[in-house]
Amino acid sequence: MRTCQWCQLDTIKEPTSVSWVFLCNKCYHTIYVDYYRSIFTPEEFRKNIDVVKAIHEIHEKKKNEIELNKECYICTKGFTCTTENKYKTLCNDCYKKYCLPFRGKATAAEMADIIKQAKKMREATFSTNLPNDESVDTGNQE
Ligand SMILES: [Zn+2]
Ligand SMILES: [Zn+2]
Repeated sequence: MRTCQWCQLDTIKEPTSVSWVFLCNKCYHTIYVDYYRSIFTPEEFRKNIDVVKAIHEIHEKKKNEIELNKECYICTKGFTCTTENKYKTLCNDCYKKYCLPFRGKATAAEMADIIKQAKKMREATFSTNLPNDESVDTGNQE
């Protein structure tokens, strides 16, 4: 067993005499063949593997960033967020409207209450007259 230079796992089963093998089967196919064969020879790839890896990780991260679709806790509108923001439960509009004014002033528990109140208030508004109309978002309160 030898260590794959890409995934760092001891997964290379070829005998050590086959010295040019520096990737495991999986990485060879899913990384080198799929992405880099047209750009690098195996030897070039091996020489530059640290740089390629760094760039590859950035691309993978970017790919993940656009993939999360969530529903806003308060207004139940769908919104997208990045993996880095996956803890988010509110759309940007609700966040700005309900949370931003309290940021730094309220504790996490108080903030949770504020969000719950906001949801209740919003539901109350909707149950009296069902406007399903964007203009409701702008003008109420204050
Ligand atoms: Zn590997
Ligand atoms: Zn919202």
